[in-house]
Amino acid sequence: MDFDRLIADRASGIDASGIRRAFELGATLTDPVNLSIGQPDFPVPEAIKRAAIDAIEAERNGYTLSGGIPPLRRACNARLASDLGWPEEAPVIVTGGTSGALLLAALTLLGPDDEIVFADPYFPMYPVLAKLCGAKPVIVDTYPDFRLTAERVAPVITERTKAVLLNSPGNPTGVVATQRDCEELLALCREKNVLLISDEIYDEFTFPDARTATDASGQPACPSPGRVAGSHDHLLVVRGFGKTYGVTGWRMGYAAGPARIIDELTKLQQYTFVCAPSIAQWGCMASFETDMSNEVSEYARRRDRVCEVLGEVTTISRPGGAFYAFCEVPASLGMTGQAFMERCVQDGVILIPGGVFSERDTHVRLSYATDPAKLERGLEVVAGAMRGAAV
Ligand code: PMP
Repeated sequence: MDFDRLIADRASGIDASGIRRAFELGATLTDPVNLSIGQPDFPVPEAIKRAAIDAIEAERNGYTLSGGIPPLRRACNARLASDLGWPEEAPVIVTGGTSGALLLAALTLLGPDDEIVFADPYFPMYPVLAKLCGAKPVIVDTYPDFRLTAERVAPVITERTKAVLLNSPGNPTGVVATQRDCEELLALCREKNVLLISDEIYDEFTFPDARTATDASGQPACPSPGRVAGSHDHLLVVRGFGKTYGVTGWRMGYAAGPARIIDELTKLQQYTFVCAPSIAQWGCMASFETDMSNEVSEYARRRDRVCEVLGEVTTISRPGGAFYAFCEVPASLGMTGQAFMERCVQDGVILIPGGVFSERDTHVRLSYATDPAKLERGLEVVAGAMRGAAV
Protein backbone atom coordinates (compact mmCIF):
# COMPACT_ATOMS: atom_id res chain seq x y z
CA MET A 1 0.00 0.00 0.00
CA ASP A 2 1.25 3.50 -0.80
CA PHE A 3 0.76 5.08 2.61
CA ASP A 4 2.38 8.34 1.52
CA ARG A 5 -0.54 8.82 -0.84
CA LEU A 6 -3.04 8.01 1.91
CA ILE A 7 -1.76 10.04 4.81
CA ALA A 8 -2.75 13.70 4.85
CA ASP A 9 -0.16 16.45 5.28
CA ARG A 10 -1.97 17.32 8.53
CA ALA A 11 -0.60 14.12 10.07
CA SER A 12 2.62 13.55 8.16
CA GLY A 13 3.67 17.18 8.70
CA ILE A 14 3.96 16.68 12.47
CA ASP A 15 7.45 15.89 13.69
CA ALA A 16 7.54 13.99 16.97
CA SER A 17 11.15 12.88 16.66
CA GLY A 18 12.67 15.01 19.47
CA ILE A 19 10.51 13.69 22.28
CA ARG A 20 10.48 10.15 20.83
CA ARG A 21 14.28 10.06 20.83
CA ALA A 22 14.34 10.91 24.57
CA PHE A 23 11.84 8.11 25.29
CA GLU A 24 13.69 5.59 23.07
CA LEU A 25 17.00 6.32 24.77
CA GLY A 26 15.26 6.08 28.15
CA ALA A 27 13.86 2.65 27.26
CA THR A 28 17.43 1.33 26.88
CA LEU A 29 18.16 2.02 30.58
CA THR A 30 17.56 -0.24 33.55
CA ASP A 31 16.42 1.73 36.61
CA PRO A 32 16.77 5.17 35.01
CA VAL A 33 16.34 8.43 36.88
CA ASN A 34 13.48 9.69 34.80
CA LEU A 35 13.25 13.47 34.99
CA SER A 36 11.20 13.69 31.80
CA ILE A 37 7.81 12.81 33.26
CA GLY A 38 4.98 15.33 32.96
CA GLN A 39 2.65 13.97 35.61
CA PRO A 40 2.53 14.01 39.42
CA ASP A 41 4.11 11.21 41.43
CA PHE A 42 1.67 11.22 44.38
CA PRO A 43 -1.21 8.74 44.79
CA VAL A 44 -4.71 9.80 43.75
CA PRO A 45 -6.67 10.98 46.81
CA GLU A 46 -8.95 8.20 48.14
CA ALA A 47 -12.17 10.24 47.94
CA ILE A 48 -11.66 10.83 44.22
CA LYS A 49 -10.98 7.15 43.48
CA ARG A 50 -13.99 6.18 45.57
CA ALA A 51 -16.30 8.59 43.73
CA ALA A 52 -15.32 7.05 40.36
CA ILE A 53 -15.75 3.48 41.64
CA ASP A 54 -19.13 4.40 43.12
CA ALA A 55 -20.15 5.87 39.75
CA ILE A 56 -19.36 2.60 37.95
CA GLU A 57 -21.32 0.61 40.53
CA ALA A 58 -24.24 3.03 40.39
CA GLU A 59 -24.48 2.38 36.62
CA ARG A 60 -23.37 5.88 35.71
CA ASN A 61 -21.57 4.43 32.72
CA GLY A 62 -23.47 5.92 29.81
CA TYR A 63 -23.17 9.09 27.80
CA THR A 64 -23.58 12.36 29.64
CA LEU A 65 -24.72 15.71 28.28
CA SER A 66 -22.11 16.99 25.81
CA GLY A 67 -21.24 19.90 28.05
CA GLY A 68 -20.75 17.67 31.10
CA ILE A 69 -22.85 16.57 34.07
CA PRO A 70 -24.64 19.58 35.60
CA PRO A 71 -23.33 19.05 39.18
CA LEU A 72 -19.72 19.09 37.96
CA ARG A 73 -20.36 22.18 35.87
CA ARG A 74 -21.84 23.84 38.95
CA ALA A 75 -18.77 22.78 40.98
CA CYS A 76 -16.49 24.30 38.30
CA ASN A 77 -18.52 27.51 38.48
CA ALA A 78 -18.23 27.60 42.26
CA ARG A 79 -14.44 27.21 41.95
CA LEU A 80 -14.16 29.97 39.35
CA ALA A 81 -16.31 32.22 41.55
CA SER A 82 -14.21 31.65 44.68
CA ASP A 83 -10.84 31.63 42.90
CA LEU A 84 -11.33 34.32 40.26
CA GLY A 85 -14.35 36.27 41.48
CA TRP A 86 -16.37 35.25 38.42
CA PRO A 87 -20.18 35.27 38.32
CA GLU A 88 -21.60 31.86 39.33
CA GLU A 89 -23.34 31.46 35.98
CA ALA A 90 -20.25 31.73 33.70
CA PRO A 91 -20.69 29.30 30.78
CA VAL A 92 -18.65 26.10 31.32
CA ILE A 93 -17.93 22.94 29.33
CA VAL A 94 -16.36 19.78 30.78
CA THR A 95 -13.88 18.33 28.27
CA GLY A 96 -11.72 15.29 27.57
CA GLY A 97 -8.62 16.66 29.30
CA THR A 98 -7.22 20.14 28.99
CA SER A 99 -6.07 18.99 25.55
CA GLY A 100 -9.69 18.37 24.57
CA ALA A 101 -10.64 21.94 25.51
CA LEU A 102 -7.66 23.37 23.64
CA LEU A 103 -8.43 21.33 20.52
CA LEU A 104 -12.10 22.34 20.56
CA ALA A 105 -11.08 25.98 21.04
CA ALA A 106 -8.66 25.77 18.10
CA LEU A 107 -11.30 24.14 15.89
CA THR A 108 -13.78 26.83 16.91
CA LEU A 109 -11.52 29.81 16.29
CA LEU A 110 -8.93 28.97 13.66
CA GLY A 111 -9.49 28.66 9.94
CA PRO A 112 -6.91 28.52 7.14
CA ASP A 113 -4.34 31.34 7.44
CA ASP A 114 -5.71 32.57 10.77
CA GLU A 115 -3.11 33.23 13.44
CA ILE A 116 -2.68 32.27 17.09
CA VAL A 117 0.05 33.84 19.20
CA PHE A 118 1.92 32.10 22.01
CA ALA A 119 5.27 32.14 23.79
CA ASP A 120 8.44 30.30 22.86
CA PRO A 121 9.15 28.06 24.80
CA TYR A 122 5.72 26.44 24.42
CA PHE A 123 3.82 23.28 25.27
CA PRO A 124 4.46 21.16 22.12
CA MET A 125 0.75 20.75 21.42
CA TYR A 126 0.31 24.48 20.67
CA PRO A 127 1.95 24.70 17.22
CA VAL A 128 0.29 21.41 16.26
CA LEU A 129 -3.16 22.77 17.17
CA ALA A 130 -2.63 25.67 14.79
CA LYS A 131 -1.35 23.44 11.99
CA LEU A 132 -4.23 20.95 12.38
CA CYS A 133 -6.55 23.85 11.56
CA GLY A 134 -4.44 25.09 8.65
CA ALA A 135 -3.67 28.17 10.76
CA LYS A 136 -0.36 29.88 11.47
CA PRO A 137 1.35 29.58 14.85
CA VAL A 138 2.88 32.97 15.67
CA ILE A 139 5.62 32.24 18.13
CA VAL A 140 6.96 35.00 20.38
CA ASP A 141 10.47 34.59 21.75
CA THR A 142 10.38 35.09 25.54
CA TYR A 143 13.96 34.18 26.50
CA PRO A 144 15.43 34.74 29.05
CA ASP A 145 12.63 35.62 31.50
CA PHE A 146 9.96 33.51 29.73
CA ARG A 147 7.16 36.06 30.19
CA LEU A 148 4.51 36.58 27.56
CA THR A 149 4.02 40.33 27.85
CA ALA A 150 1.75 42.67 25.88
CA GLU A 151 4.90 44.48 24.80
CA ARG A 152 6.13 41.31 23.11
CA VAL A 153 2.72 40.32 21.71
CA ALA A 154 1.46 43.69 20.37
CA PRO A 155 3.88 43.90 17.40
CA VAL A 156 2.79 40.50 16.02
CA ILE A 157 -1.00 41.03 16.19
CA THR A 158 -2.50 41.29 12.70
CA GLU A 159 -5.93 41.31 11.07
CA ARG A 160 -5.73 37.50 11.07
CA THR A 161 -5.01 37.05 14.78
CA LYS A 162 -7.82 35.15 16.48
CA ALA A 163 -6.29 34.28 19.81
CA VAL A 164 -3.39 34.79 22.18
CA LEU A 165 -2.58 31.69 24.22
CA LEU A 166 -1.04 32.19 27.67
CA ASN A 167 0.20 29.34 29.84
CA SER A 168 0.86 30.26 33.48
CA PRO A 169 2.38 28.55 35.40
CA GLY A 170 4.13 27.48 32.23
CA ASN A 171 5.31 24.22 30.76
CA PRO A 172 8.31 23.87 30.33
CA THR A 173 9.50 26.83 32.44
CA GLY A 174 7.25 26.93 35.54
CA VAL A 175 7.17 30.73 35.16
CA VAL A 176 4.09 32.52 36.56
CA ALA A 177 2.77 35.68 34.89
CA THR A 178 2.68 38.93 36.85
CA GLN A 179 -0.46 40.89 37.49
CA ARG A 180 0.67 43.57 35.07
CA ASP A 181 1.34 40.93 32.35
CA CYS A 182 -2.23 39.69 32.77
CA GLU A 183 -3.81 43.15 32.85
CA GLU A 184 -1.93 44.35 29.78
CA LEU A 185 -2.47 41.17 27.74
CA LEU A 186 -6.16 41.32 28.49
CA ALA A 187 -6.36 45.01 27.58
CA LEU A 188 -4.52 44.30 24.31
CA CYS A 189 -6.86 41.42 23.45
CA ARG A 190 -9.91 43.56 24.18
CA GLU A 191 -8.58 46.39 22.05
CA LYS A 192 -7.81 44.10 19.10
CA ASN A 193 -10.95 41.94 19.47
CA VAL A 194 -8.89 38.80 20.02
CA LEU A 195 -9.67 36.00 22.48
CA LEU A 196 -7.17 35.46 25.31
CA ILE A 197 -6.96 31.73 25.99
CA SER A 198 -5.47 31.02 29.39
CA ASP A 199 -4.16 27.47 29.79
CA GLU A 200 -4.18 27.10 33.57
CA ILE A 201 -3.57 23.37 33.83
CA TYR A 202 -0.98 23.99 36.58
CA ASP A 203 -3.08 26.56 38.48
CA GLU A 204 -3.15 24.57 41.71
CA PHE A 205 0.61 24.09 41.50
CA THR A 206 1.31 27.77 41.98
CA PHE A 207 3.68 27.73 44.91
CA PRO A 208 2.70 29.60 48.08
CA ASP A 209 5.68 31.95 47.74
CA ALA A 210 4.81 32.70 44.10
CA ARG A 211 1.26 33.63 45.06
CA THR A 212 2.51 36.40 47.31
CA ALA A 213 5.85 37.21 45.66
CA THR A 214 6.62 40.34 43.73
CA ASP A 215 9.17 40.52 40.91
CA ALA A 216 12.07 42.98 40.61
CA SER A 217 9.70 45.76 39.56
CA GLY A 218 7.37 45.08 42.51
CA GLN A 219 4.74 43.29 40.43
CA PRO A 220 2.77 40.57 42.24
CA ALA A 221 2.40 37.16 40.56
CA CYS A 222 -1.00 36.40 39.08
CA PRO A 223 -1.59 32.83 37.92
CA SER A 224 -4.78 33.77 36.05
CA PRO A 225 -5.80 36.75 33.92
CA GLY A 226 -9.30 35.66 34.99
CA ARG A 227 -8.56 37.17 38.37
CA VAL A 228 -7.76 40.61 37.02
CA ALA A 229 -10.66 40.44 34.56
CA GLY A 230 -13.19 39.37 37.18
CA SER A 231 -15.28 37.91 34.36
CA HIS A 232 -15.07 35.91 31.13
CA ASP A 233 -15.21 38.81 28.69
CA HIS A 234 -12.62 38.17 25.89
CA LEU A 235 -11.20 35.34 27.97
CA LEU A 236 -11.35 31.55 27.76
CA VAL A 237 -9.98 29.90 30.89
CA VAL A 238 -8.93 26.27 30.41
CA ARG A 239 -8.23 24.13 33.45
CA GLY A 240 -7.56 20.47 34.13
CA PHE A 241 -8.02 17.81 36.77
CA GLY A 242 -5.30 15.42 35.60
CA LYS A 243 -2.20 17.10 37.00
CA THR A 244 -3.85 18.56 40.10
CA TYR A 245 -5.22 15.27 41.42
CA GLY A 246 -2.90 12.77 39.69
CA VAL A 247 -5.59 11.50 37.31
CA THR A 248 -3.96 12.35 33.96
CA GLY A 249 -5.29 9.13 32.42
CA TRP A 250 -8.88 10.03 33.19
CA ARG A 251 -8.76 12.76 30.55
CA MET A 252 -10.60 15.50 32.40
CA GLY A 253 -10.58 19.25 31.93
CA TYR A 254 -12.94 22.19 31.61
CA ALA A 255 -13.20 25.52 29.87
CA ALA A 256 -15.13 28.63 30.82
CA GLY A 257 -15.64 31.78 28.79
CA PRO A 258 -18.03 33.77 26.64
CA ALA A 259 -21.36 31.98 26.02
CA ARG A 260 -21.00 32.17 22.23
CA ILE A 261 -17.58 30.45 22.36
CA ILE A 262 -18.62 27.78 24.90
CA ASP A 263 -21.69 26.98 22.77
CA GLU A 264 -19.45 26.36 19.76
CA LEU A 265 -17.07 24.17 21.80
CA THR A 266 -20.03 22.17 23.07
CA LYS A 267 -21.41 21.67 19.56
CA LEU A 268 -18.04 20.46 18.30
CA GLN A 269 -17.62 18.18 21.32
CA GLN A 270 -21.02 16.65 20.55
CA TYR A 271 -19.81 15.67 17.06
CA THR A 272 -16.29 14.54 18.06
CA PHE A 273 -15.58 13.33 21.61
CA VAL A 274 -19.36 13.24 22.41
CA CYS A 275 -18.66 13.91 26.10
CA ALA A 276 -15.88 13.65 28.69
CA PRO A 277 -15.66 10.16 30.28
CA SER A 278 -18.73 9.73 32.50
CA ILE A 279 -17.13 7.91 35.43
CA ALA A 280 -14.25 10.37 35.48
CA GLN A 281 -16.73 13.25 35.62
CA TRP A 282 -18.38 11.71 38.68
CA GLY A 283 -14.95 10.95 40.17
CA CYS A 284 -13.88 14.57 39.75
CA MET A 285 -16.97 15.68 41.67
CA ALA A 286 -14.94 14.82 44.78
CA SER A 287 -11.88 16.76 43.64
CA PHE A 288 -12.66 20.35 44.58
CA GLU A 289 -13.10 19.38 48.23
CA THR A 290 -9.68 17.71 48.29
CA ASP A 291 -6.87 19.68 49.87
CA MET A 292 -3.68 19.34 47.80
CA SER A 293 -1.62 21.88 49.76
CA ASN A 294 0.77 19.22 51.17
CA GLU A 295 1.58 17.98 47.67
CA VAL A 296 2.04 21.53 46.40
CA SER A 297 4.39 22.37 49.31
CA GLU A 298 6.37 19.20 48.60
CA TYR A 299 6.86 20.32 45.00
CA ALA A 300 7.89 23.78 46.21
CA ARG A 301 10.57 22.13 48.38
CA ARG A 302 11.83 20.11 45.42
CA ARG A 303 11.86 23.28 43.30
CA ASP A 304 14.05 24.91 45.96
CA ARG A 305 16.43 21.97 45.86
CA VAL A 306 16.66 22.04 42.04
CA CYS A 307 17.40 25.77 42.08
CA GLU A 308 19.94 25.35 44.89
CA VAL A 309 21.93 22.60 43.13
CA LEU A 310 21.66 23.73 39.52
CA GLY A 311 21.72 27.46 40.32
CA GLU A 312 25.45 27.02 40.98
CA VAL A 313 26.19 25.68 37.52
CA THR A 314 23.66 27.26 35.18
CA THR A 315 20.89 29.82 34.70
CA ILE A 316 17.33 28.89 35.68
CA SER A 317 14.38 31.24 35.73
CA ARG A 318 13.06 30.35 39.19
CA PRO A 319 9.81 28.42 38.68
CA GLY A 320 6.80 29.80 40.57
CA GLY A 321 4.68 26.76 39.77
CA ALA A 322 4.13 23.47 37.87
CA PHE A 323 6.86 20.85 38.43
CA TYR A 324 9.44 21.70 35.80
CA ALA A 325 12.67 23.66 35.60
CA PHE A 326 14.00 24.86 32.26
CA CYS A 327 17.78 24.97 32.59
CA GLU A 328 20.28 26.45 30.19
CA VAL A 329 23.03 24.17 28.95
CA PRO A 330 26.12 26.23 29.84
CA ALA A 331 27.44 27.82 26.62
CA SER A 332 30.98 26.81 27.62
CA LEU A 333 30.03 23.18 26.90
CA GLY A 334 29.25 24.01 23.26
CA MET A 335 26.40 21.48 23.33
CA THR A 336 22.79 21.57 22.15
CA GLY A 337 19.99 20.52 24.50
CA GLN A 338 19.74 17.29 22.49
CA ALA A 339 23.47 16.53 22.92
CA PHE A 340 23.26 17.34 26.64
CA MET A 341 20.25 15.04 27.05
CA GLU A 342 22.18 12.21 25.33
CA ARG A 343 25.17 12.91 27.59
CA CYS A 344 23.00 12.56 30.72
CA VAL A 345 21.42 9.34 29.41
CA GLN A 346 24.89 7.80 29.55
CA ASP A 347 24.68 8.33 33.33
CA GLY A 348 21.15 6.97 33.56
CA VAL A 349 19.24 10.29 33.66
CA ILE A 350 16.47 11.20 31.24
CA LEU A 351 15.67 14.85 30.47
CA ILE A 352 13.84 16.46 27.57
CA PRO A 353 15.85 18.65 25.20
CA GLY A 354 14.69 22.27 24.97
CA GLY A 355 14.25 21.98 21.20
CA VAL A 356 11.07 19.96 21.82
CA PHE A 357 9.52 23.13 23.32
CA SER A 358 11.26 25.81 21.35
CA GLU A 359 12.76 27.05 18.11
CA ARG A 360 16.09 27.00 20.00
CA ASP A 361 17.84 23.98 21.47
CA THR A 362 19.86 25.63 24.22
CA HIS A 363 18.10 24.27 27.34
CA VAL A 364 16.78 21.07 28.89
CA ARG A 365 13.51 20.53 30.78
CA LEU A 366 13.80 18.72 34.07
CA SER A 367 10.68 17.46 35.85
CA TYR A 368 10.90 17.13 39.62
CA ALA A 369 7.68 15.12 39.87
CA THR A 370 9.81 12.17 40.89
CA ASP A 371 10.92 10.40 44.03
CA PRO A 372 13.17 12.81 46.05
CA ALA A 373 16.01 10.27 46.40
CA LYS A 374 16.05 9.74 42.64
CA LEU A 375 15.82 13.48 42.09
CA GLU A 376 18.98 13.90 44.19
CA ARG A 377 20.81 11.34 42.07
CA GLY A 378 19.58 13.04 38.92
CA LEU A 379 20.64 16.49 40.09
CA GLU A 380 24.11 15.21 40.88
CA VAL A 381 24.48 13.83 37.35
CA VAL A 382 23.03 16.94 35.66
CA ALA A 383 25.17 19.32 37.75
CA GLY A 384 28.27 17.20 37.04
CA ALA A 385 27.55 17.20 33.31
CA MET A 386 26.98 20.97 33.39
CA ARG A 387 30.35 21.43 35.06
CA GLY A 388 31.76 19.51 32.11
CA ALA A 389 32.84 16.49 34.13
CA ALA A 390 33.82 13.45 32.03
CA VAL A 391 31.49 10.42 31.96
N1 PMP B 1 -1.39 22.26 28.64
C1 PMP B 1 -0.17 22.14 29.18
C2 PMP B 1 0.64 23.36 29.39
C3 PMP B 1 0.32 20.87 29.55
O1 PMP B 1 1.53 20.77 30.10
C4 PMP B 1 -0.49 19.72 29.33
C5 PMP B 1 -0.04 18.34 29.69
N2 PMP B 1 1.30 18.10 29.79
C6 PMP B 1 -1.75 19.91 28.73
C7 PMP B 1 -2.17 21.19 28.42
C8 PMP B 1 -2.66 18.74 28.45
O2 PMP B 1 -3.15 18.20 29.60
P1 PMP B 1 -4.31 17.10 29.69
O3 PMP B 1 -3.66 15.84 30.11
O4 PMP B 1 -5.29 17.63 30.70
O5 PMP B 1 -4.93 17.01 28.35
